[in-house]
Amino acid sequence: MTRGDRPLRIAVVGSGPSGFYAAEALLAGDIPAQVDMFDVLPAPFGLVRYGVAPDHPKIKNIISRYEKTAALPGFAFFGNVEVGRDISIAELRRFYDAVLFASGAQTDRRLGIPGEDLPGSYTATEFVAWYNGHPAYRDHKFDLSHECAIVVGQGNVAMDVARILCKTVDELKHTDIAAHALDALAESRVREVRMVGRRGPVQAAFTPPELKELGELSDCDIVVDPAELELNDASRAELEVLKWRDSIKNYELLTQFVSRPPAGKARRLLIQFYRSPRELVGGDHLDGVVMERNALSGEAGAQKARGTGATELVPCGVVFRSVGYRGVPIDGIPFDEKAGVFPNVAGRVMNDGAVVPGLYVAGWIKRGPSGIIGTNKPDSFETVKHLIADAPELPSCEEPSRAALQALLKSRNVHVVTYDDWKRIDAAEVARGGASGKPREKFVRVKEMLDSLEER
Ligand code: NAP
Repeated sequence: MTRGDRPLRIAVVGSGPSGFYAAEALLAGDIPAQVDMFDVLPAPFGLVRYGVAPDHPKIKNIISRYEKTAALPGFAFFGNVEVGRDISIAELRRFYDAVLFASGAQTDRRLGIPGEDLPGSYTATEFVAWYNGHPAYRDHKFDLSHECAIVVGQGNVAMDVARILCKTVDELKHTDIAAHALDALAESRVREVRMVGRRGPVQAAFTPPELKELGELSDCDIVVDPAELELNDASRAELEVLKWRDSIKNYELLTQFVSRPPAGKARRLLIQFYRSPRELVGGDHLDGVVMERNALSGEAGAQKARGTGATELVPCGVVFRSVGYRGVPIDGIPFDEKAGVFPNVAGRVMNDGAVVPGLYVAGWIKRGPSGIIGTNKPDSFETVKHLIADAPELPSCEEPSRAALQALLKSRNVHVVTYDDWKRIDAAEVARGGASGKPREKFVRVKEMLDSLEER
């Protein structure tokens, strides 16, 4: 079947940054296109809504760009629709000439050590989703009744987790943090947070603005052991020869923290290096972490942490594992287990070394969980460039009709949330937040979102 004069029909699965940048590029492209964007939740924006820390509101301003895309002719939002459950990939392909997955990385990499799943040991992803009001995490419980918490990993997600644990209620109460999380954090007995990295200060993955922010916490001292800022030759070369910009700034900031005497604040955040957890110990609850001291080996730019054999038991009641996100498979799409992505070459999905016509990927499910929101722009644009180049050869779908798809979903009792519906949910959240001086009070259950649409 040929496509004739009708627009190219593309399903974008996922409404986070990579999905919106892809939609933008498709709708601004040289060929007429219709983009239907699917999300399992009634609310769009993925990690901008459910990942970005509540105390980083400026980062969320990017939403205004996505709103412009959503207003373009040719765009439709299919919220509250789970691809793989409400509609299969094979069915989706009946209605679209191409399917572009921008479904992100929804789970965590594992440490692979004994005790990892003891009660009291959590993933950063679930904690972040919980304090950001993600409906799937609304009923998660985090035991914050212990004095010491360990955050494993030193990326910006670990930073977010450590900072939220160390902030006071006053520092959080005017953000869009979920009310249930604010209540739980108000009761938190955590007084000492240790953010632990397996390599050294020069190799830490966090970025300078996030590190600097720690120094501005109202009731938390930052503690860095000066001995851990002593560098080996390769680390010094990373600063002085390779001139790693973020590391140079990080190192300056860490040095400033060392020179600042503790002010006796209520909480302490220890930034610790050269340590790997080897075992989480406890009976029916976590009691502590066996930490091994590491040394670095390898050339500048490629140093790895190696265990020294020296271990210590660090008593602690709560651990957050923050060692990177990981993509999850969707039935009907090849999956690279090792990398946790859909195998692809520059956005074209591959199966056994051959391109799968009509299937594309963008964002974290394409390249893995790295980079900031803006990194997804060139990434999605690259995928769309290839999709548009392939368009003349793509076989036309059988039923190029939005109405036919809507009818199918209706016959399955799927309550599709349109973009106009979302705007009403959005307005209701903003109104709810006003009373308590918050930018919004998110609905934290899907049912609440759908019920709000019934209210006139
Ligand atoms: P990340 O930046 O890749 O950091 C992962 C951390 O986990 C690194 O410190 C890594 O250490 C460590 N790690 C990995 N495997 C480990 C293991 N087996 N044992 C101990 N440590 C281990 O990942 P992320 O923090 O999840 O962030 C994902 C992306 O989102 C990043 O690009 C980040 O910058 C971005 N992000 C940005 C912001 C922001 O702009 N404010 C906020 C949140 C996230 P090694 O370096 O030794 O591997």
